[in-house]
Amino acid sequence: MGRAFVYVIVGGGVAAGYAAHEFVKRGVSQGELCIISEEPVAPYERPALSKGYLLPEAPARLPSFHCCVGTNEERLAPKWYKEHGIELILGTRVKSADVRRKTLLTATGETISYKYLIVATGARALKLEEFGVNGSDAANVCYLRDLADADRLVSVMQSCTGGNAVVIGGGYIGMECAASLVINKLNVTMVFPEAHCMARLFTPKIASYYEEFYQSKGVKFIKGTVLASFDFNADGKVTAVNLRDGSKLPADMVVIGIGIRPNTSLFEGQLTMEKGGIKVNGKMQSSNSSVYAIGDVAAFPVKVVGETRRLEHVDSARKSARHAVAAIKEPEKSGEFDYLPFFYSRVFTLSWQFYGDNAGEVVHFGDFSGNTFGAYWIHKGQLVGSFLEGGTKEQYEAIAQATRLKPKVEDLAELERQGVEFALSVSEKAPSPRPTEVGGGSGMILEKPLYAWHAAAGVIVAASVAAFAYWYGRRRRRW
Ligand SMILES: Cc1cc2nc3c(=O)[nH]c(=O)nc-3n(C[C@H](O)[C@H](O)[C@H](O)COP(=O)(O)OP(=O)(O)OC[C@H]3O[C@@H](n4cnc5c(N)ncnc54)[C@H](O)[C@@H]3O)c2cc1C
Repeated sequence: MGRAFVYVIVGGGVAAGYAAHEFVKRGVSQGELCIISEEPVAPYERPALSKGYLLPEAPARLPSFHCCVGTNEERLAPKWYKEHGIELILGTRVKSADVRRKTLLTATGETISYKYLIVATGARALKLEEFGVNGSDAANVCYLRDLADADRLVSVMQSCTGGNAVVIGGGYIGMECAASLVINKLNVTMVFPEAHCMARLFTPKIASYYEEFYQSKGVKFIKGTVLASFDFNADGKVTAVNLRDGSKLPADMVVIGIGIRPNTSLFEGQLTMEKGGIKVNGKMQSSNSSVYAIGDVAAFPVKVVGETRRLEHVDSARKSARHAVAAIKEPEKSGEFDYLPFFYSRVFTLSWQFYGDNAGEVVHFGDFSGNTFGAYWIHKGQLVGSFLEGGTKEQYEAIAQATRLKPKVEDLAELERQGVEFALSVSEKAPSPRPTEVGGGSGMILEKPLYAWHAAAGVIVAASVAAFAYWYGRRRRRW
């Protein structure tokens, strides 16, 4: 049994949704495009799972956050795919791929052939067992990567109100889940081996701001140690977490956020790999010219930092998806993907954005005892990275533009004094955005709130952008 398509996307997450949208924008005929996804639902905005999805009141639920609402574009519910003649094969895992024959074999035994394949298989959460600790199967141990995980987390969380939650890991998932657990009235302790939270991105000074904020909400931090084992009750539920430093924490539930691994196994030995992902060129094309890779699984040349990187962020998934489709549909017109790395998070009433690369010397600016502060990274005399908490839309746009333009910085003390005004002045003189940055878009992507949210808990919202160099007047925060 088999079917043939011109374009097949394997994986049905964020990148797949944005790729489908781009195909439709550029023109795709009935029956030409197929998406095969292990998940039982049409592509959705995955970041919602650790934010609006976990709210105790009026939580976000599908279909409200199907792609592409995260960028204020159409919401692609299953009906949309049908209307555009796109075959959505859901709840179906691809179990093998043969890039020489251009075929995929699904777990249901179907062979699907393609002319062009787009790999959008994302990543999976790393399991405790991969670090020598057992207990992932316990009923009150939760991970958070997909909708099924989120449903499980919600149900465990609701059964533990007033109890103790231990969060293992101090990265994105750990921080966002800890905030949601607090909002759901659990007592939260975070455990991680590093000296501070978000160690891959935050400086100690930035991290201490967030840690103090979390502490003011009741979160406890145990740093410099790792999970060693669990105590279980007769039902197999975890009752306590044992740490390598010898301490024991009572636990009604545990959330694990210890990193992810790209889903590359279908293509190991068939495509060139780099940085743990599928190596692609500036057109998102792999070592096999019929196969493209996008999103978390793709390692692509990030021109602005001059090296190949694999990014695990939603903005990169969206834009790499659009760029790959542009490269397939109009190869002669599409340039090299020229992406400015962009990360963001929102927890409690806080909201930060980061652009570029956190390399070189750091200059902090702003009021770390107030609501708006940030940092610039200066490498070889140029601005290469910018972080801002509590900025206005205009300020976020300005740090994006300034980072893209890499202005020369000679006087670090003056940069500190100017703070965000430096980026505003740079961006004021900016030329129009580069078309290749957003994979066929205008270069301006504004991400608005996805869900109604009440002020006390305040999670969800964001913005981004791109374009240039010097000083300006300060603007209001929050938008
Ligand atoms: C809870 C959570 C919160 C996040 N919050 C943020 C945030 O605030 N900001 C940010 O920048 N980023 C965030 N991210 C990261 C962001 O969601 C990812 O970078 C993005 O989803 C990557 O898109 P993708 O399409 O590459 O992969 P995914 O969205 O993970 O989609 C991959 C899809 O492929 C499917 N698949 C895998 N293997 C197969 C197979 N063999 N056969 C069929 N289907 C397969 C999977 O089931 C999945 O549906 C968050 C991630 C999570 C999990």
